[in-house]
Amino acid sequence: MAILVLGGAGYIGSHTVYELIDAGRDVVVADNLLTGFRAAVHPKARFYRLDIRDRAAVDALLEREEIGGVIHFAASSQVGESMSDPLKYYDNNLGGTTVLLQSMVAHGIDKIVFSSTAAAYGEPERVPITEDDKTAPTNCYGETKLAMEKMMGWTERAHGLRYVALRYFNACGAHPSATIGEAHDPETHLIPLILQVPNGQRDRLSVFGDDYPTRDGTCVRDYIHVCDLAQAHILALDHLSRGGQSDVFNLGNGVGYTVMEVIDTARRVTGHAIPTQMCPPRAGDPAQLVASSAKAKRILGWTPRYDSLEDIVGTAWSWHKSHPHGFEEK
Ligand code: UDP
Repeated sequence: MAILVLGGAGYIGSHTVYELIDAGRDVVVADNLLTGFRAAVHPKARFYRLDIRDRAAVDALLEREEIGGVIHFAASSQVGESMSDPLKYYDNNLGGTTVLLQSMVAHGIDKIVFSSTAAAYGEPERVPITEDDKTAPTNCYGETKLAMEKMMGWTERAHGLRYVALRYFNACGAHPSATIGEAHDPETHLIPLILQVPNGQRDRLSVFGDDYPTRDGTCVRDYIHVCDLAQAHILALDHLSRGGQSDVFNLGNGVGYTVMEVIDTARRVTGHAIPTQMCPPRAGDPAQLVASSAKAKRILGWTPRYDSLEDIVGTAWSWHKSHPHGFEEK
């Protein structure tokens, strides 16, 4: 039986496909390629170009392939865009997941692992954050991800479909082979933006706010390597295959770094000065987001392999240096 990876041409999806293939699994990838890249799909995966909102296309795929479980990354994921175009997020994230679950139920596929987010918590009441802390998203992206989690819960009650929701903190880094990595357009994430400076694509890095109640005034985040996230999806699907219950897990390293500490790390890794410019805070940015991943370690047996920020930034730098235009050939 194959594993179906929806959104397998995107950043976290493509890395998960690489890890699955390395583990000897049979993998089918579906992606509409609106933000993903065909070149990011592992050559050993069977690829279907489709949109999960297209019920006929999803049905046809599930009829043609023998799918044992689904890993679902096919969603819009930009916080800023979710605030200016919320209905796009309802349509793609909730509409898409509704169609997908309808088709899975109709075809008797009863296991799904999917991307949720630390944005489901909103402004945390304490750090590190645990899974039973309050969920009060401050942006529409987080709201739709939390609603996806709830949709799965009701679907399980009615139809017995079990799920694992993985709440990622700050995904970063690239595959150690540097064949795939992060490529967003527009790019909004800290580490790829920092690395545009030594890559000659940006003069300086804008730092969004230096007056937060943190050790140097800049925001603290928990940076977790994309290959560690990928491993967690495999463990979560194995957990469901063993008959494990539906559940929600945080995925992070449990260590917070300030924006300035990330920039300093990138300076050491790249040997470049990386000038900065202080800017006003970005709307909706919490001061600190740090995960407790004790539950994922305990129940899934997950152990992140990349615990050094220097190593994480090093893999990102190898990718960006060798692919300055991402997957586009210019
Ligand atoms: N950030 C920044 N300058 C940038 C991009 C991001 O100072 O050009 C900060 C941002 O305010 C946040 C942290 O870097 O505190 C991580 O931002 P990112 O967008 O990578 O992830 P988020 O935490 O928003 O999911």
